[in-house]
Amino acid sequence: MAIWNLGSINIDHFYHLPHLPGPGETLAALGYATGLGGKGANQSVAAARAGARVHHIGAVGARDKAVLDQLAADGIDTTHVARVEGSTGHAIINIDPAGENNIVIHGGANLALDPAAVARALSAARAGDILLIQNETCCQAEAARIGRERGLRVVYSAAPFDVDAVRAVLAFIDILCVNAVEEAQLRAALGGVSGPELVVTLGAEGAEWRGRARVPAYPVTPVDTTGAGDCFTGNMVAALDAGLAPEAAMRRAAAAAAIQVTRPGTADAMPTAAETDAFLQ
Ligand code: ADP
Repeated sequence: MAIWNLGSINIDHFYHLPHLPGPGETLAALGYATGLGGKGANQSVAAARAGARVHHIGAVGARDKAVLDQLAADGIDTTHVARVEGSTGHAIINIDPAGENNIVIHGGANLALDPAAVARALSAARAGDILLIQNETCCQAEAARIGRERGLRVVYSAAPFDVDAVRAVLAFIDILCVNAVEEAQLRAALGGVSGPELVVTLGAEGAEWRGRARVPAYPVTPVDTTGAGDCFTGNMVAALDAGLAPEAAMRRAAAAAAIQVTRPGTADAMPTAAETDAFLQ
């Protein structure tokens, strides 16, 4: 089958600084790097490297074809990534010597998606395919509704958490993925969740598919846990798409995420299926 991922694409700019800047302060960076990011792109790369056929639905700024080339290099279909006026979504990530950070995100092209183009893209999806969505673009609710109508399995990674966004998709989704903080926000806002299945990642404590399975995290020494949740979700949907049962899919996802946290970076740090296989031996 295939995964249709309606999701954000960001260019991450990492600035290594002597300390995090205060109000009015100008700071010279000690180092600079860029990388592919955004929860959507992270999850597409994770799922594609895990072996899934991934169609990304999204948008980038017209000048940033290189970003599409980067997605395509991982075998991701970018036919449905529009090139629009204005800037590609991006994040400015300031990091101090202790690894503490602060982050500025500009949604850019991610928020300029055309609902008609999203609907057109999904008209090529087939019943049984997976529709994956997060909360960094526009049009999620329309996409989820179309996905449900067309018999897709709709998986919603509810981050960054927004209760109105959750409410808007709740009736159309099959699986809701959150981390521990988002689950607490969800419970505080809605009490509980009825309808979709709930998958909660618990950092170094592993993950739980409520009512079905719990898997531990693999013991590793992390160097950068940014994107661990995206790695887990991308790998889990790839495994579900390949026909694995929930517990087996979560075990693979936990192994992939354990590899990912031992590497710096987000999308660039996602492991391949072969690397996850080797880790699990
Ligand atoms: P998020 O990045 O969304 O906050 P989590 O922190 O819950 O998500 O991490 C997602 C998954 O990544 C966890 O369920 C676990 O399998 C794996 N993971 C995260 N942190 C670690 C860690 N320190 N060691 C091993 N695995 C980890």
